[in-house]
Amino acid sequence: MPKPKNQFVDIGNARFEDQEAVMREIIASDHCPFCQENLEKYHTQAIIKETEHWILTTNKWPYKNTRVHLLAILKIHVEHLYDIPPAAGAELIEIMGWAEKEYKALGGAFAMRFGDTDYSAGTISHLHAQFIVPDIAAEGYEPTRFKIGKNPRDF
Ligand SMILES: [Zn+2]
Repeated sequence: MPKPKNQFVDIGNARFEDQEAVMREIIASDHCPFCQENLEKYHTQAIIKETEHWILTTNKWPYKNTRVHLLAILKIHVEHLYDIPPAAGAELIEIMGWAEKEYKALGGAFAMRFGDTDYSAGTISHLHAQFIVPDIAAEGYEPTRFKIGKNPRDF
């Protein structure tokens, strides 16, 4: 049986020790790290672009083997795809297209987890989309992996 989880973050899906430390702080404060009033407390990365519905920024903990790893964070607290305002959906596609051009990405992925973090493997429940370009020219390059679903040992 899964352990009781924090409402806003899932420390079982953290990938780095310093990320876990920040998540412990968030759990102690019992608020959402991606809601606008809290975002700047935890997210120290530069804001690349702000639109009506989204904040585009870089991932503080990029995946291995990525040349570009951006996050588009929805400005309102939503955890399910069915709660995304349709206009925000259209705007997200525009932002991702903008990033593709801006970072001269010849290819990559645009991914968004949703809902229960046991299923999504997300660390933060507040919806955010990821824009990922692998660094295929880097020394020791290996394919970038995007996990969906928590590891059994982390339940
Ligand atoms: Zn939130």
